[in-house]
Parts: sequence; structure tokens; C-alpha cells
Amino acid sequence: MKRRDFLKLAGAVSLAGCATTPSKARVVVVGGGFGGAIAAKYIRLWDPSIDVVLVEREAGFTSCPISNLVLGGFSNMQEISHGYDGLRRHGVQVVRDEATAIDAAAKKLSLARGGDLSYERLVVSPGIDFNFGEIQGYEAAMQAGRVLHAWKAGAQTVELRRQLEGLRDGGVVLLSIPLAPYRCPPGPYERASMIAAYLKQSKPRSKLLVLDANPDVTSKGGLFKAAWKDLYAGVLEYRGNARAIGVDAKSMTVKLEVEDVKGDVLNVVPPHRAGDIAMKAGLITTNNRWCDVDWRSMESKKVPGIHVLGDATLSAPGMPKSASMANNHAKIAAAAIVGALSGRGTGPDPKIINTCYSFVSQKEAIRVSSVHQWDAGQGTLIGVKGSGGISPARSEAEGIFAWHWARTIWADSLA
Ligand SMILES: Cc1cc2nc3c(=O)[nH]c(=O)nc-3n(C[C@H](O)[C@H](O)[C@H](O)COP(=O)(O)OP(=O)(O)OC[C@H]3O[C@@H](n4cnc5c(N)ncnc54)[C@H](O)[C@@H]3O)c2cc1C
Repeated sequence: MKRRDFLKLAGAVSLAGCATTPSKARVVVVGGGFGGAIAAKYIRLWDPSIDVVLVEREAGFTSCPISNLVLGGFSNMQEISHGYDGLRRHGVQVVRDEATAIDAAAKKLSLARGGDLSYERLVVSPGIDFNFGEIQGYEAAMQAGRVLHAWKAGAQTVELRRQLEGLRDGGVVLLSIPLAPYRCPPGPYERASMIAAYLKQSKPRSKLLVLDANPDVTSKGGLFKAAWKDLYAGVLEYRGNARAIGVDAKSMTVKLEVEDVKGDVLNVVPPHRAGDIAMKAGLITTNNRWCDVDWRSMESKKVPGIHVLGDATLSAPGMPKSASMANNHAKIAAAAIVGALSGRGTGPDPKIINTCYSFVSQKEAIRVSSVHQWDAGQGTLIGVKGSGGISPARSEAEGIFAWHWARTIWADSLA
């Protein structure tokens, strides 16, 4: 073991070993993705007297935004992979470990490698996990490497790209989309565009069949469909109301309610729910899937003192599960936590913005944006009338903005 790694590990173990109350107020954050990283950083920026410990099970951060371009061969894993040293420079203590349990009464978090972390406030931003059981045969097929979701960027992104590169010219790729709500409403349609762009360029006799459980494209539908007609006619076929209910690894078949469809590459995205730790900690409030929060502080409606962020939350009406939203959730939570721990109290009611770009070809993108503000009468965030909207057409200018958006949110999260 290198000396630097040993020191990091020793620091993590000694931190986790002492469940005693720290002398300074301590906030523990579970999950170093778009929600958790931002919350950790902004708590330190807004009140450096607070100890912030970030618990993340992965060695580094891999961005889902832009990962579809990796599949198309228009970006690479290096571009979407980032380290946590920027957070360390803000004084965040980054512990590489898995949170396994939360004792809300004792304000303690248990870690897989042993030891507990005590906290004054806990932030939970674990992203999503999958309801594999809703698609018969999925887990076995995934373990055999016959089906992939690649809906958490990382090893499966690399493997899906490898399978696409290995596809024979004339082969069929199946992309199956779950019923909404799922993370990133336009994400599957961007993926369809990127795979189709790759096939058109490198395997022109191949076909991509998009099997959507939803009746129609759920986001930027007109813009996506116009791009598919203009750019990928004969390559990409879209079918709505086509929910996957099973996968057969042997025959490489996706079973729909009415028929079975065969493919050479199976990219089936299963239905989601809040990440496992949210379930174990009893934070889930709705449909056995999502965690309801008070949008003025992101505090759980079920477990006081715990703030839930990002994709794990029960989205407010019209609110997507996106990196933009997770970033905004994190800033609401950071402000509320700093306000509570410093005695400064709460700030103004939140008003937050979502912007989501999707590439439809290597260089052209489309955009959707929306503004959401607190409504005391309805007790939730609601869309501001007349705000936001979609880009008038796909363009290379939007593609340039999309890259700037990605680089800006990576820097805001991690630098
Ligand atoms: C293909 C694709 C494209 C996308 N494109 C866009 C886009 O262009 N724009 C956009 O705004 N959004 C996009 N998104 C959505 C965006 O990635 C998510 O909304 C965002 O990542 C949510 O942030 P989060 O913090 O909730 O979860 P995540 O970013 O997934 O972070 C969760 C983190 O928690 C860690 N973790 C989980 N459980 C534990 C535990 N028990 N212990 C320790 N660590 C744990 C995980 O390892 C992970 O690092 C896209 C998503 C996909 C799949």
C-alpha cells in the first residue's frame, strides 16, 4: 500500500472509530454524486466552522451527464471521471466507505468497514437503485453480462460501449426505457440518438429498436422525433407502450407484454427507486420508491434531522430527476443546515432552475428548462408560469452550451 493511501485509510478509520460527539458541529453526507458533493462543499464554503464528512463508496466521481456521448464514441471515460481532491481542499473529509445503516435517534451512521460516525445533521444523496424484480430474469442476465442498464455511469458504460463496438454490421440493439418517473427524463432519448449516430457511422446495416414503456417520448418529444426522422431514418425505430417484463439471456430476448423481441445488444433500463440506504433508513415515504421532503430545507418528512437530496426524493410536480435539480436541492439543504447550526435561521423560500441539454448528434443538442418556486398554499415547489421552455431547434450552438453546462456543474460540484 502506498504511504498516501495508508494515510487516507488511517484517517478514515480513526474518524469512523470514534462515535463520540465531535467538538465542532459535524455534518455527515452520504453519497458524493451531484447532490452530496455540492452539499458538502457549500456547507464548508458558507460556514467553515462546521466539520463535514463525505462518505462515498466509489474511489471517484463518474458523471452520468455526457456518458451517452461515451457510448456514441464522442467522448471518453476520462472526460467524465473526476476525483474528490477539490472537496478535500475545501476541508471536506472524504471517507471511501459504504454507509450501511442509520440510527436517527442516536444520530449515528454505520460504515461497512466497521465503526460509526456521529453527526448533528445527516445529508443523504444516494441516487437510485433498481427494482430488478419487475423484469423477470434481469438479475441473472445482468450477472451473465447479457443485459446492461448503464444507468449509473461507470463499469457498465464501458461494457456497453464495448458491446456496441463488437456488434456485427446488421445486428440489432434494443434500448428499453422504464415508465416515468426515472432519472433524467430525456436521458434515454439522448442515448438512442447517440447509439443511432454510432450505428449510422460505423455499422450502417444495423438497427436500434427503442422500446419505451411510456406511451410517447417523455421529454422534448417533438425535437427528438424531428432529429430521428432527419438523421436516423432506417436506423432508429421507436415504439411506445412497449414495457419490458422479462429478459431471456439465452435467446437474447426482451419480453414485452404482447410480444418478444430479439436483439444482439440488450440495454434494458429497469424501473428505479431511491438508493438502498434510503430504504434501510426508513426514509422512503411514497410507493415504496421515493422520499418526500420539505422543499424549504430538504429535510425528510419522515425522519427529522436527515436531509434527502437528488434523485432519491419524491419529485415535486413537473420537477425532473436531474443533476441540475440535485445541485439546487443541495444548496437549499446547505443553506438550511448552516442556518440551523449557526443560529442564523432560515433564508428566503426557494426558487430553483432546471436546465437539461441532450445531444441528438455528435455536435448538435436540444434544451429544456424550467423554474420551480415554493408555494405556501400547496406546500410544495410548483413550476413558474411562463418560465422555461424548449430550444426552438437542434443546433451546434446548443451543443456548445451543453458542454459548458457539463464543465460548469462538474466544477461547481468538485473543484
Ligand atoms: C445516461 C444519463 C444521462 C444524464 N444526463 C443528464 C444531463 O444531461 N443533465 C442532468 O441534469 N442530469 C442528467 N442525468 C441525471 C443525473 O445524473 C442524476 O439526476 C444525478 O446524478 C442525481 O444526483 P444524486 O446525487 O441524486 O445521485 P448520484 O449522482 O447518482 O450520486 C449518488 C452517489 O451516492 C453514492 N452512494 C449511494 N449509496 C451509498 C452508500 N450507501 N454509501 C456510500 N455511498 C453511496 C453513489 O456511489 C453515488 O456516487 C443523467 C442520467 C443518466 C443516467
